[in-house]
Amino acid sequence: MARIVVIGAGLGAMAAAARLAVAGHRVTVYERGATYGGAVGRFERDGFAFDTGPGLLHLPAVYRDLFVKTGKEPLEECVALTQVDPASRHVFADGTRVDLPNASRAGTVAALDAALGAGAGERWGDFLVRAREAWDRTRRPLLEEPQPADPAPLAREPYPALKPGLLRRPATTLARIGTRELRDPRLAALLDAYAWTYGFDPATAPAAAAVLPYMEQTFGSWYVGGGLRALADAVYERCLKRRVEFVFDTPVEDVLEKDGRAVGVRLAGGDTVEADHVVSGAPVPALPPRSDGRPRHQVLGTSRVTVCLALRGPREPAAVHRTVVHADGDRPTVTVLRPDDPALRPDADHESVTVTATVRTSPERDAGAWEAFADGMVEAAGRAVPELRERLLWRHVRTPEDVRRDTGAAEVPGPALAGADGLLLPAANRSPLPGLWFAGGWSHPGGGLAHAGMSGALVAGFIVEGADFRGSR
Ligand SMILES: Cc1cc2nc3c(=O)[nH]c(=O)nc-3n(C[C@H](O)[C@H](O)[C@H](O)COP(=O)(O)OP(=O)(O)OC[C@H]3O[C@@H](n4cnc5c(N)ncnc54)[C@H](O)[C@@H]3O)c2cc1C
Repeated sequence: MARIVVIGAGLGAMAAAARLAVAGHRVTVYERGATYGGAVGRFERDGFAFDTGPGLLHLPAVYRDLFVKTGKEPLEECVALTQVDPASRHVFADGTRVDLPNASRAGTVAALDAALGAGAGERWGDFLVRAREAWDRTRRPLLEEPQPADPAPLAREPYPALKPGLLRRPATTLARIGTRELRDPRLAALLDAYAWTYGFDPATAPAAAAVLPYMEQTFGSWYVGGGLRALADAVYERCLKRRVEFVFDTPVEDVLEKDGRAVGVRLAGGDTVEADHVVSGAPVPALPPRSDGRPRHQVLGTSRVTVCLALRGPREPAAVHRTVVHADGDRPTVTVLRPDDPALRPDADHESVTVTATVRTSPERDAGAWEAFADGMVEAAGRAVPELRERLLWRHVRTPEDVRRDTGAAEVPGPALAGADGLLLPAANRSPLPGLWFAGGWSHPGGGLAHAGMSGALVAGFIVEGADFRGSR
């Protein structure tokens, strides 16, 4: 039995903690905040409740696996999972609207043809075929296996060129796919929105980011009853059942090192704790850069602004769960979430709605600038929620500073992507210091609920099975 200290109670770190405890290790989590979950938080006021982090789950298989491997009750017995259908409504700048069904390629093609004109669906479907090629080429090394010792092959673009042979024209950025291959500004906006949602700028994101819409449209979007915070509750409960110990309000200030190995941590206040392994789920610290001078982890420079809206009046029966209102002039693309969930509202005569936008973390803005930005977001959300202004009781704006308070970093890391010269690969789980491991969104395979959950599985695999661990088969 090894003594394992885990830094932070984010989802990635808790996933590692539960698995390590089941393997017979003594696991203690030190969390700087007063609660678990990190980004997966909740804001409550006057009987309204809002997810302050992700509002939907993709690839629930990652959490199903965690629950199967760490106990008797499967995930579905611990949380109420439902597929969101339609997966999303899109409102484009020109006013066109389309509802995309959940995980149905044929349904998506038909919906796009009907809304955008004949041929649009086929172009999107053909694009998804190429996106699938990129997914198949990178799924194992970028999601299911540890980062390869030599990640150079992952620096190459996996998205296939449009035409073979002499007409071969490799796509360079996601935005280029939009103009060259989708040939409709609304389809291009649809593609761009997937990149922005995960924090990537489509103008610079590699074509490899095509795996993001492929992943969502193939494996579906899921809601957790009571809000996504209920998933954090369930993972925390699972950790407690496996006798993981949690110490809250206790930041870790340093990792102790002896003879070139991590041997414990120093807590705020000066106490030290010895450990055989340290798993850090905190934002990866400023590691020394790689020998070629580049950072060891992904640098996106983006975060999220979330506006929680408390509305009077019932949610209309035809409302959809997720609407993406696409950018229009200076107004950003916003995602409007309207879960039909009694747990999130005081009664049936009220509704809680969240509106989220991806923003750059620099230059910094003051409180007034954020309120003005939120005004634009609410105006955009008005295209998804009828009579929004008249129904608004109050709003609460959460900025990247709130994200920093919840997680330790204002930036929200994205999933690992191939291409881009390897710049979008996160830090490896195995840190440069033996005995210190990285889990969570800042490490392989990157940010997002499912990816961070996988990081926990990989770190636990390394510690339990040894350095030769190659991923669970
Ligand atoms: C607003 C927002 C929207 C998001 N939307 C989506 C989405 O739509 N889809 C999606 O998949 N993902 C989304 N994400 C990302 C997703 O929530 C995270 O990637 C996921 O929760 C995994 O987080 P993590 O494991 O990296 O831990 P984090 O949530 O980053 O938590 C880190 C934890 O470590 C603690 N900590 C930090 N430093 C220390 C220290 N020194 N000592 C002790 N504890 C420390 C922090 O307090 C925190 O609890 C969103 C995130 C945010 C913030």
